[in-house]
This record gives sequence, structure tokens and C-alpha cells, in this order.
Amino acid sequence: MSTPTPQATRPDPTMTPLTVADRCDKCGAQAFMRAVFPGGGELLFCGHHGREYAAALSGSSVHLVDETERLNDKPNAATD
Ligand SMILES: [Zn+2]
Repeated sequence: MSTPTPQATRPDPTMTPLTVADRCDKCGAQAFMRAVFPGGGELLFCGHHGREYAAALSGSSVHLVDETERLNDKPNAATD
């Protein structure tokens, strides 16, 4: 009897959607932007700080994942 490994391969952080549990590293608000550094580190930003840092980080090799369009999404958008 073998126990299956839930995550055999490590998911690409840039492909993992941000959740309500992800918090801005600057102010602690819900994160909507992720900055992934070449070395593997990452920073999370809320919409406000994401926009603030996006300009500074663009052009560098930091990979920015912008999910700020989800700001208008309701957490449980069932029917509309
Ligand atoms: Zn913030």
C-alpha cells in the first residue's frame, strides 16, 4: 500500500493563483500582484503597492504576475 504524493512536482509559483491568504508584503492587505525574482524569491503586493512597484520592477528580470483585475471579482461569484 503506497501513499500517493499530493504534489509530486513543485508547482510553478508564477502559475499558482493568488488567494485571499496571500498578503501584501508591505501593508498586509490582500495581495493581487506577485513579483518573482530570478533567484527564486518572491514578493506579494496589494493593488496599491503592486502599481507602485510595478514601474520600478519592470525592465528588471523580475517576473511580475498581475492579478489586479480580480480586484473587481467577488470572492464567491456564484450567479449574477
Ligand atoms: Zn500593500
